[in-house]
Amino acid sequence: MTRLIDSHIHLDDDRYASDRAELIKMAQMAGVSQFIVPAVSRKRFATVQQLAMKHESVFHTLGLHPYYIDQHSAEDLEALATALSQPGVIGVGECGLDHFLKNLDRNKQQLVFEAQVVLAKHFKLPLILHVRGAVDDVFNVLKKHDYYHAVMHSFNGSAEQARQITAAGVYLGFGPAVCNPQARKLQTMVQSVPLDRIMLETDGPDQPFYDRYGKRNLPIDLLRVNQELATILNVDAMTLAEQTAANARALFRI
Ligand SMILES: [Zn+2]
Repeated sequence: MTRLIDSHIHLDDDRYASDRAELIKMAQMAGVSQFIVPAVSRKRFATVQQLAMKHESVFHTLGLHPYYIDQHSAEDLEALATALSQPGVIGVGECGLDHFLKNLDRNKQQLVFEAQVVLAKHFKLPLILHVRGAVDDVFNVLKKHDYYHAVMHSFNGSAEQARQITAAGVYLGFGPAVCNPQARKLQTMVQSVPLDRIMLETDGPDQPFYDRYGKRNLPIDLLRVNQELATILNVDAMTLAEQTAANARALFRI
C-alpha cells in the first residue's frame, strides 16, 4: 500500500475541531501515513505539541509565521528557543517572508525570519518555509547563513529559481495549486524539478482545489495531489508517493 507523507497540514486548525481524529484515521486507511503540522504562532505551540503526543502519525514543528508578524515579539522568539531545546519537535516553521501582502512590516519580518534560521541552524533542525513574493529574498537569507536544510512549501517560483534552490539542497513542496489545469506555468516549472527534491502537501485546511472553492482540504486529499502531480510529471503514482515520502523522511528524520 502507498504510504504518503503530508509535509504541510495545519491539523491544529479549529476547522478540524469536530472531526479531527476521524479525518486522520480515514486518511491513514487510504495510505497517508504521516502528517507534519507546523505551528504558526506562540499561541499554537502547545496545541501542535499535544496533537503530536496524541497521534503517533502526527509530527510537529514550531515557528512564527510572517502572516502574523504584528503579534510576534522578542519574548516569542525566546519561547521558541526554549521549546526547540525540548524533545519531540522535528523542525522550525512555519516561518519565512510574505511580500505579497502589503500591510506586513517587512523589516520586522526579516528580523524574525533570520532569527529562526539561526535557531534552526543551532538546533540542526530543518526549516519549513513560507515564501510569497519573496523567493529570492528567502533564498538570500539561507545563503547568508549557509543553511539549506529546508523545504519551501507551496512553491510558486520560476523554473530557474527552482533549479538554483534545489541544487543547493532545498526541497520544494507542492499541493492543490499545482493540480489546477489553469496553472500551466506552475506545472511546467514542476516538471523541471528533480523527483528527489519534491514533497507533497495539502496545506489543509486552506489552499482549496480549483474545483472545490470554499471547502476545507482534508488529510485524505493528499492522495489526489499525488495522483494528479504524477500525471503532470508523467511518472507512476506509486513511484511519486514513495520518492516524496522518502524525501520527507530524509529531511525531517522521521
Ligand atoms: Zn502553512
